[in-house]
Parts: sequence; C-alpha cells; structure tokens
Amino acid sequence: MTIANQATTSNFIRDKIIEDLKTNRYGGRVQTRFPPEPNGYLHVGHAKSIHLNFGLAKEFGGQCNLRFDDTNPTKEETEYVESIMEDVRWLGGEWAGVYYASDYFGQLYEWAVQLIKAGKAYVCDLSPEQVREQRGTLTEPGKESPYRNRSVEENLDLFERMKAGEFPDGSRTLRAKIDMASPNLNLRDPIMYRILHARHHRTGDAWCIYPTYDFAHGQSDSIERITHSICTLEFEDHRPLYDWYIEQLGIYHPQQIEFDRLNLTYTLLSKRKLLQLVREGHVRGWDDPRMPTICGMRRRGYTPEALRNFCARIGVSKTNGTTELSLLEYFVRDDLNRRAPRAMAVLKPLRVVIDNYPEGQTEWMEAVNNPEDASAGTRQVPFSRVLYIEQDDFRQDPPKQYFRLSPGREVRLRYGYFITCTGVVKNDRGEVSEVHCRYDPATRGGNAPDGRKVKSTIHWVSAAHAIEAEVRLYETLFTREDPNEVEEGGDFTDNLNPNSLEVISEAKIEPGLAAAAAGERFQFERLGYFAVDPDTTPGKPVFNRTVGLKDTWAKIEKRQ
Ligand code: ATP
Ligand code: MG
Repeated sequence: MTIANQATTSNFIRDKIIEDLKTNRYGGRVQTRFPPEPNGYLHVGHAKSIHLNFGLAKEFGGQCNLRFDDTNPTKEETEYVESIMEDVRWLGGEWAGVYYASDYFGQLYEWAVQLIKAGKAYVCDLSPEQVREQRGTLTEPGKESPYRNRSVEENLDLFERMKAGEFPDGSRTLRAKIDMASPNLNLRDPIMYRILHARHHRTGDAWCIYPTYDFAHGQSDSIERITHSICTLEFEDHRPLYDWYIEQLGIYHPQQIEFDRLNLTYTLLSKRKLLQLVREGHVRGWDDPRMPTICGMRRRGYTPEALRNFCARIGVSKTNGTTELSLLEYFVRDDLNRRAPRAMAVLKPLRVVIDNYPEGQTEWMEAVNNPEDASAGTRQVPFSRVLYIEQDDFRQDPPKQYFRLSPGREVRLRYGYFITCTGVVKNDRGEVSEVHCRYDPATRGGNAPDGRKVKSTIHWVSAAHAIEAEVRLYETLFTREDPNEVEEGGDFTDNLNPNSLEVISEAKIEPGLAAAAAGERFQFERLGYFAVDPDTTPGKPVFNRTVGLKDTWAKIEKRQ
C-alpha cells in the first residue's frame, strides 16, 4: 500500500462510533480496551492499537481499559506486565483501570458450566491434535467427535474433574457444540478449555484448566462493558464465534471491529520472533535500539510524539498492507527537528592545525541551540588552534562537485572562521593524518567582510576541549524489505543485517555534552539525531544514532 492511499483512508472505526453515539446504541458511552498478552514486550504495531483505543476513547469522552489477556500461563510473565504498563504510559495512554483476563477465570468457569447445562458444550476425550485433525478443511466438513453427545450430567462431572486436576495435560478439552460442517472453521466445535498443569503468573496453581482466547476475550469485553472491541483483521473470522458465545450466554454484547495490522518494511512485528532474536543473542535485549519494540525505540531516541504522529498518519484500513519504514523515520526526524538542541560532534576525526592561529588561545564562539526554536537560546563553543573535522570533509584529490576542504580550498567552519588548506602530513601508510590550514581573522562568526563566498560549511570540535564519546550507528536489523521472505529451509534470521550496528569508540564531541543524561536527544550538526544511551558514564558518554538527517522519504514523495 502506498502512503498516498493511507492518508486518504477514512477512519471507519471512528465513523462507527459516531453513528453509535447518534443512535444511542450504548447509552452514549464509548469504552474501549487495549488487550495485550503479557508474553513479550510491546512493539510499534501495538503502538497503532494503543493510539486507536486510547485515542478514540479520549476523543469521544470515553474510557480505555488496559487488559492483560493472560490465558497462556506457560508464556506469560510479570516482567512483561510491567514493561507493557511502562510502554503504554510512555506513549501517553491513560487507562481507566488495569484488568486481567485471569481475574475472570471464576466467572468464565461458571459460564462454561452454563453452556454445558444448556447442551451447548461437551467434554471431548480427543487430544487437541486430534481435534485439529478432525476439523476438516475449507472444502471439506469436519468429523463429529465420538464424545459429542455425552449427557449433560456426564459433561458436568468430567468438567468438574478436569478442574480438580484428575486428568493429565492434553487428555481432554471442553468444546462448544456448534456445527462441524460450518463453512467457518472457527465454528466447528471450537475448544473452550484445555488442561494445563502450569503455574500462572497471577493465579499460581489455583487452576489447571485454562480458557482459550476465543472463550475468554469476548466475555472479558462483556464483563468490562466494552462498547467497541477493536482488534486486528485476523480475528474477522472469529467474530461469529465471539458473537455466538455472548448470545448463548445472554450477556451484554460489545461489538468487535477489525482493522489492519501494521507491517513495516525491513521490520518484524511478531513477539514470538522478537523473542527468538533476544533468546538467540542476535540483539542485546528487548530494548536493543535496533528492535521495533517501544522500549528499543525509546532507547534509540524516538519520541512518543513521533510515534503518535506516525500512527495518526497511517490511519486504519480493512486490508493489510506494508508501510515504508522511511515514513516512520520521517516523523521521528520531523519531531526531533523541533525539539532537539544542536551540538557539534566529529565521528571520524581528522586533526586540523591552523598555523596562523595563536598557540594557547581559546575563543568562545556563539552557537545557536535550535534554529527552529528561538527560545532554546545560544551556547558558547570553544575554538582553538587544533581542531578535529570529519575525515569525510577532507579530500586530497577532490572529485568534481566536492566542495569541502582540499588543498588550496577555502571553507567555512560553522560558527568559526574561514580556513584555507595549505598542506597535509601523511603517516607511514601514506594516509593524511593531519591537515594544515590558515584562517582569516576577519571572518569570525562565519562571514567575510569583502563578501567573498565559500561553497561549504563544515563542523568541527576543538581538540583541546573535546570529550571522547562512544557512538553507536544503526542500520536496519534485516537486509530484506520483507524479512519473512526466505530461501527454502531457511529462517528469518538468515536475513539479519550483519552491519546493523557499527560502534565508533573514539568520537569527539563538544565539551558542553559532558553532562548529558541518558535519554537526552541532540542533533549533531550535519550528522543526524542522537540520544544518550543508558550505558553512558560520566567519563565516557555513549550515544545512539536515532536517525540520520537524510530524508529519503521526502525524495520518495517527490517522485510520486
Ligand atoms: P504478536 O503476534 O506480536 O504477539 P499479538 O496480536 O499476538 O501480536 P497481542 O498482545 O495479543 O499481540 O496484541 C494486543 C493488541 O495489539 C491486539 O488488539 C492486537 O490486535 C494489537 N496488535 C498486535 N500487533 C499489531 C500490529 N502489528 N498492528 C496493529 N495492531 C497490533
Ligand atoms: Mg498473541
């Protein structure tokens, strides 16, 4: 899907809410929920769901619950619950209450008993694998279970004993009695409960039977009196089952509405796969700045505002597509441009000696903190005889169109002086190790009184005042637009980008950055946006490159 399409997509969910308010369908209430399973950290796909659920509730004066959909005890952990709360809060989600599907285990059990009594559910002695095998296909009906017609009494007795722990894992299930020939596979006697002797992160050993997603989700929505239960498109085929349970139970009926999952180029958005990256050590952890997790993006320097603006722009649709990663980066850059103070840093230093500048002298040059924000003020940057510039900003033999420093060429040092290159010193390997220049004292601040022009302005730091820093540069974690596209027998990890992290251990930064605290964000002039990493120490600051300055998105847009 192209972005142009997405921008014009109307928000059908919003329209639905407006209509329901008009017809007073839910008594004027708007109640949504964000229902993560605590089996991993949230990723940018979840940000889309958070933006929708919390955003719509807020827009219409309603409420949004945070609900942990914790019905899979073997995969869920308290660590995940805590990280999810932190990330939702950071994104600006203000929940009305925190709820857990596990709080409803008692009520769900009673409802299961109610369905058994009504002849709508039965205990089946087939294993979950056999149930799956007998389910049939899209073209063939499923097979009825030999246990389908057990008496209500026998079902009640067996279900009670399942709960009491009499049977081993996988030996029995509770199934809804619907229709083994239904064209919708989800209605072919779906499993409601399975036996699992596993400790739950909240209920401990109280239960050894656990409800499935389908049996838990709609009923949880009903208990919380959700009005609009927004979920991703893969649940569209589950909606008839969602409605069936609620109708059979005769309880309050929320409405499920589906929207498209976010997919991003060069990115995987699946907790299971992200967990694999963490477990196998392909990344440093869930918050590795290369991860598409909320905590990874936060560590990298992304702002909640940038993520929210991105979510607002992509909107929602009824068909799945893929969004360009460069669009997300566009919003990050756009937001940081407004809020990030500027600084000068040299990643790959080359010494420059200004031969006619007095030895031992330091001048403090006034530099603008943020040209986009006058209230950010100015700062003083030290200038002296020996400076560092980027190796890339000097060429011994400049190609055509190269206007930066080279022998005989004059350039402007940002906030400093015009300098002209007079010679170079080479090391044993024949590489330029030092550049010699002369400066024009009349050009202080960056302009020549005689009006002569230079074609290039470069950044620099004073060697005597510079602080050494570690800078981590990131590329996409995967080399393919679709990391799931693999050769036969391969795995998505085959598409990992071996160059996704480059560590520069001896970058030089202006001294004012010495006290920067973890999480602070800067624009390093001409290089990009950088955020202070939590690994930073007073003696050695560590920066993550959040995003470069080059706006590939603007180029793509121009081409369209
Ligand atoms: P994953 O496959 O990554 O585990 P999930 O859908 O199983 O994703 P949940 O924890 O169940 O993750 O998701 C909580 C909510 O976030 C759900 O409503 C889900 O539909 C939504 N969500 C998850 N991934 C995306 C995505 N890529 N785009 C939009 N919404 C998403
Ligand atoms: Mg899931």
